[in-house]
Amino acid sequence: MKSEAKQCQNCKNEFTIEPEDFLFYEKIKVPASTWCPECIWQLLFLWRNERSLYKRKCNAPGHEEEIISIFPPDSEINSVYDYKFWWSDNWDSLQYGREYNFSEPFLQQFGKLLASVPQPNVIQTNSINSEYCNSVLGAKNCYLVFAASRIENTYYSSWLDEIRDCLDILWSHHGELGYENVLCNDFYKLFFSGFSEECSESAFLWDCRGCSYCFGCVGLRNKQYHIFNKPYSKEEYFSKIKEYNLGSFAELSKIKKDFQEFKLKYPHKYARITNSVNSTGDNLKNAKNAFYCFDSTMGAFEDCRYVAVPFGKDEAIKDSHSSFGVGHGFSFAYQSASVITGSSVFFSKKIWTGYNIQYSYNCHNCHDLFACVGLRNKSYCILNKQYSKEEYEKLVPQIIDHMNQMPYTDSKGRIYRYGEFFPPERSPFAYNETIAQEYFPLTKEQAEQQGYRWKEPETKNYQITKTPDQLPDHIKDVKDGILNDIIQCAHVTTSQVVTCNEQCTTAFRIIPQELEFYRKNNIALPRLCPNCRHYQRLKQRNPLKLWQRKCQCSGTKSDNGIYQNQTNHFHQDQHCPNEFETSYAPERQEIVYCEECYQQEVV
Ligand SMILES: [Zn+2]
Ligand SMILES: [Zn+2]
Ligand SMILES: [Zn+2]
Ligand SMILES: [Zn+2]
Repeated sequence: MKSEAKQCQNCKNEFTIEPEDFLFYEKIKVPASTWCPECIWQLLFLWRNERSLYKRKCNAPGHEEEIISIFPPDSEINSVYDYKFWWSDNWDSLQYGREYNFSEPFLQQFGKLLASVPQPNVIQTNSINSEYCNSVLGAKNCYLVFAASRIENTYYSSWLDEIRDCLDILWSHHGELGYENVLCNDFYKLFFSGFSEECSESAFLWDCRGCSYCFGCVGLRNKQYHIFNKPYSKEEYFSKIKEYNLGSFAELSKIKKDFQEFKLKYPHKYARITNSVNSTGDNLKNAKNAFYCFDSTMGAFEDCRYVAVPFGKDEAIKDSHSSFGVGHGFSFAYQSASVITGSSVFFSKKIWTGYNIQYSYNCHNCHDLFACVGLRNKSYCILNKQYSKEEYEKLVPQIIDHMNQMPYTDSKGRIYRYGEFFPPERSPFAYNETIAQEYFPLTKEQAEQQGYRWKEPETKNYQITKTPDQLPDHIKDVKDGILNDIIQCAHVTTSQVVTCNEQCTTAFRIIPQELEFYRKNNIALPRLCPNCRHYQRLKQRNPLKLWQRKCQCSGTKSDNGIYQNQTNHFHQDQHCPNEFETSYAPERQEIVYCEECYQQEVV
């Protein structure tokens, strides 16, 4: 089998289908994709609205209370149930079932079913006092937290597990008292840090491990009392650290800027891959034969291609392709997102415990489904209609045939036969309501030009009581009255124009728990709304993309002359010959070293 170059139906870029991809397609009996892996991710992300919350009426029979929902009131989804009612036995989603119609394109029929079946307002399980959270399991007293499990007293944060008393953190597990951290694990009292593990009582750390009482450090291992990578005695450290006053917004901004520049003076490892074999991507742990995969922060996985966020502690994720959020021992996920426990799920979104499922949305504890929405504990259903096993097995191949005979064509002329994921217009969400905007940010014009729906922000008419420049510079001068203020986000101009593309809510409040945290830890008030803060953290991670590059170690120093090697490398004073696949784009300023050169310098 040879590799084959193809042109992506969507972005028109060339992509390569390798023999390993063909083998996978053969195994699961699907045709080769006509979309490139990056565009498939983009389509999958369009089905994940994490943080756009709306108020609407609960449509469950006998209910009419106002609820928080990820589906706006004008959504194509006709009815939204309070999630507790949705998960109860008080209604039956088979009542929305329909006969397959061989004179209408498949995706059109699926669209009608999708619009008619009620959806839960948010994704929550076992949570207490955490109304404004979505995709959370076991949340207690949390506010604006998304995609998280086992969290307590935590605010404005995403992608967490086992976290308590934290604000504004991203991609972290097992930590307490954190603020403005990105991908930090096993921490205690850690602020403004990134990609660091087992660190405590520190701030502004980057790529550090096992450090405590350190400030502004890069690439340190098991160190104490360091400031900007310089060692101090314990006494000196505590007297010197007083010079850095994070309580003042002006000083904090300057420290952030200085640290940003300081990071560029040290080599960065080409990829954050640990304990892995034969794998490419970024942020990988316990991976085996993973190709172009990203963000496996928990658990093991193997033989996967183009999978982002495989997770789960017990069993390894296996044999999956072009998917996102594949969890707990799943195998054979293909073009699917949010699939947990099970096997052989293709072209589907949000399937928890299930196998042999295709083109389905939000179905749980099911097997052998085709084109179903919102089912629980069912099997052998098509368009939410129950069949016998024999009828089902006869009808599914006929529908697949029909999908190829009468394909669906979208507004941009893209053609969808069997083997393609749902087109953008089938998603219940607009591009900028979903994580597609986080990973592949677009302007309104770009999104519409590519055939994605765009949601105009609702007019909020907030009565702004403070603009960012009216806030006291220092946290010590902030009075309790701040809790009544509606503060304008610094991304909004005086003439009310939003200058960013980051789901800006234009204004925000400070909540009491938050104020207490800033006061206790001497941290200045933020000037951006929670969404804009989230997007600044996202910028600290690399994109879901790899470039082939050379190691930037020229022998005794880095190519740009900024970093002087501390040791002798295997290549002596010659340029390092190693090449790698890295998520650092070639034009970036960071010094990027191969595994061997990096390990020589960072011990
Ligand atoms: Zn493409
Ligand atoms: Zn904002
Ligand atoms: Zn090297
Ligand atoms: Zn080297």
